[in-house]
Amino acid sequence: MTTKSVQQILPPPAAHMVGDGFRVHNFFPSGYNMGNKRMSPFFMLDYNSKVEFPPTDTPRGVGVHPHRGFETVTIAYHGKVAHHDSAGNSGIISEGDVQWMTAASGVLHKEYHEKEFAKKGGMFQMVQLWVNLPAKYKMSPPKYQEISNSKMGKYLLPNDGGYVEVIAGELKGIKGAASTFTPLEMYNARLKKGAKLTVNFPANYNTGFVVIEGKVKVNSSQEADVDHFILFKNDGEEITIEPLEDAIILLLSGEPIDEPVASYGPFVMNTQEELVQAVNDFNRGKFGVLED
Ligand code: MN
Repeated sequence: MTTKSVQQILPPPAAHMVGDGFRVHNFFPSGYNMGNKRMSPFFMLDYNSKVEFPPTDTPRGVGVHPHRGFETVTIAYHGKVAHHDSAGNSGIISEGDVQWMTAASGVLHKEYHEKEFAKKGGMFQMVQLWVNLPAKYKMSPPKYQEISNSKMGKYLLPNDGGYVEVIAGELKGIKGAASTFTPLEMYNARLKKGAKLTVNFPANYNTGFVVIEGKVKVNSSQEADVDHFILFKNDGEEITIEPLEDAIILLLSGEPIDEPVASYGPFVMNTQEELVQAVNDFNRGKFGVLED
């Protein structure tokens, strides 16, 4: 087994607001001009680092908007988010939960802070990933997976070293809760200081992780601080992670989708023609109906 070496340790790029409810650092594709495919099948990573929202009677968030051609995965670390979509699905996720929405052929949805959380205000920290779909699934029906924390398989580290929530994929025999369209691994590792986690992914898998809390040592050499994204080369399989203090990291690894990518706003397709089609279908109301 050879080491998957670190390509770059990236500090969080300047934050921007998505609607009025999400203050995000975009690590890719735009944040570091990594290109549309560097982390494929993961197309986009928006990281809402910790931010304190004051109380409000009008929940903050993002109003009704469309998506086509991919999946949105929202992972909550602090605060609560409510989701509604035109396929009739809705849900609330809070700390430790994941919401996996397959937009595929198209949905309208809205994403707001949950009412009671908004009323009280408080610490907010989330990740939203866009997971691309291969051409053959882009126009499949929308789907929704609500993955509450209790549904996730957990791998326990020896010697009380913490645990890893397997959101998707499989870690040391523990299966992930989410079903995916292409092979990918997504873990939330909650590690205690002094522990050591070793993971293996195929060399060709695009791989990276976000340090959500704490500080970790990677491959016994480099140190990665909180809110940083660690991008790996496609040169080996094995990664070791040693928390220098109690830490949470979000690990992502997946088989690249070897297809052209054309994207425009909330649409991720293969060709320009398909983007034009998406805009036209949206304008003609083919994404369904959802009230603001
Ligand atoms: Mn959205």
